[in-house]
Amino acid sequence: MTLISNHMPTAELQALDAAHHMHPFTAGAELAKKGARVITRADGVFLTDSDGERILDGMAGLWCVNVGYGRKELAEVAARQMSELPYYNTFFQTTHVPAIALASKLAELCPGDLNHVFFAGSGSEANDTNLRMVRHYWAAKGHPEKNIVISRKNAYHGSTLGGASLGGMGGMHAQGGLPIPNIHHINQPNWWSEGGDMSPEEFGLARARELEQAINELGEHRVAAFIAEPIQGAGGVIVPPSTYWPEIQRICDAYDILLIADEVICGFGRTGNWFGSQTYDIRPDIITIAKGLSSGYQPIGGSVVSDEVASVIDNAGDFNHGYTYSGHPVAAAVALENLRLLEEEKIVETAATEIAPYLHEQWKQLEDHPLIGEAKIVGLMGSVAMTPHKESRAAFASPVGTVGYRARERCFANNLVMRHVGDRMIICPPLVITRAEVDELMARAVKSLDETYAGLKADGLLVPAS
Ligand SMILES: *Cc1c(COP(=O)(O)O)cnc(C)c1O
Repeated sequence: MTLISNHMPTAELQALDAAHHMHPFTAGAELAKKGARVITRADGVFLTDSDGERILDGMAGLWCVNVGYGRKELAEVAARQMSELPYYNTFFQTTHVPAIALASKLAELCPGDLNHVFFAGSGSEANDTNLRMVRHYWAAKGHPEKNIVISRKNAYHGSTLGGASLGGMGGMHAQGGLPIPNIHHINQPNWWSEGGDMSPEEFGLARARELEQAINELGEHRVAAFIAEPIQGAGGVIVPPSTYWPEIQRICDAYDILLIADEVICGFGRTGNWFGSQTYDIRPDIITIAKGLSSGYQPIGGSVVSDEVASVIDNAGDFNHGYTYSGHPVAAAVALENLRLLEEEKIVETAATEIAPYLHEQWKQLEDHPLIGEAKIVGLMGSVAMTPHKESRAAFASPVGTVGYRARERCFANNLVMRHVGDRMIICPPLVITRAEVDELMARAVKSLDETYAGLKADGLLVPAS
């Protein structure tokens, strides 16, 4: 049975969308010719489109719908909160129950002494907060010149001026005059593409040591912080070699700089623990949260900061920063209920102990597919690198992303949402995915990869870059 609510025919919706709606990260004119797929409803791990097709969402929306779609509890909490107190701010010596309850719950869940939350409306905003906060922190301690933040190429930290500058996406920096000053980018731990003849372990160490080199070149007295995602998400689910994070933590301990872990994707159960920092045994001074915090049911993000950082900021007069919707009561209430579901229904635990091992076994088998070089997966986030020549880990001769786009189109045609980043394919399904649904995901993924491979062969595109 398919449920289609009463709406205009798909073609009319697409025409209006093309005429009036500008899409993020999209070539508008190209999409207008083709027509966007109209999603009308969703339940569990499945989306339904305006033609009644059921699509398996292998990406949990944009890495965020951790509890899956259609949880009535979250809708009910939102409705109740809207009737009781739809909005109030926390700027001028006021507060409200949802912000208090969510902040204290986060203090309980977050590792170490990350006990203080500054709320934002999104991950990008939270990283803007982090940038201003770490600079303000060092200025308050008498070191205003300690204002450079080190980040990494191919990192994703959001789309605001600050977030995109912290990020290391070349395509984003090429538009609109980015990055802003005093952001320094080092290389990423992407062994498959950049590891050359080194073993993954040697390469992980070498890439981590670029942080130490950068600190020494810039001067420790100039560096405020290092920011990184435990696992790069939008960069292509780049799982760092095992040697990488221990060495980064050693360097952060040896020098007087702050460590910011961007947990926007890795947080809230994605990597098999509540936070990616726990999976990699790292001790950040600040973490960025968003996405899974509300499972995407409401826009909310935040910065969770250590006792020490909070104490310096709190004792330095007004922190001249905030968003109208910082700690929005409806978003906060929904996030709190989402955390309750994740915890009480043991969603984080079940995903880690029951589903992840089952999915990993099948995902790793993709390395036997003729198109796949490496298959990486941690918790419920995974990627495969496609290659025309496995032994040399060669890229394709065609422009980067050509093959990825073709594979994504095959997935879409087979009613599976799997995203491509360059010529890597990635998955990040809702944490509530069942074993039967994992089987379905894998069946559709393999079918799509088979079709992609056949298409590349037919079109003479299985050619390594020289
Ligand atoms: C998505 C993302 C952001 C940005 O969050 P928005 O809510 O889109 O602003 C920041 N960091 C990481 C690691 C992300 O994946």
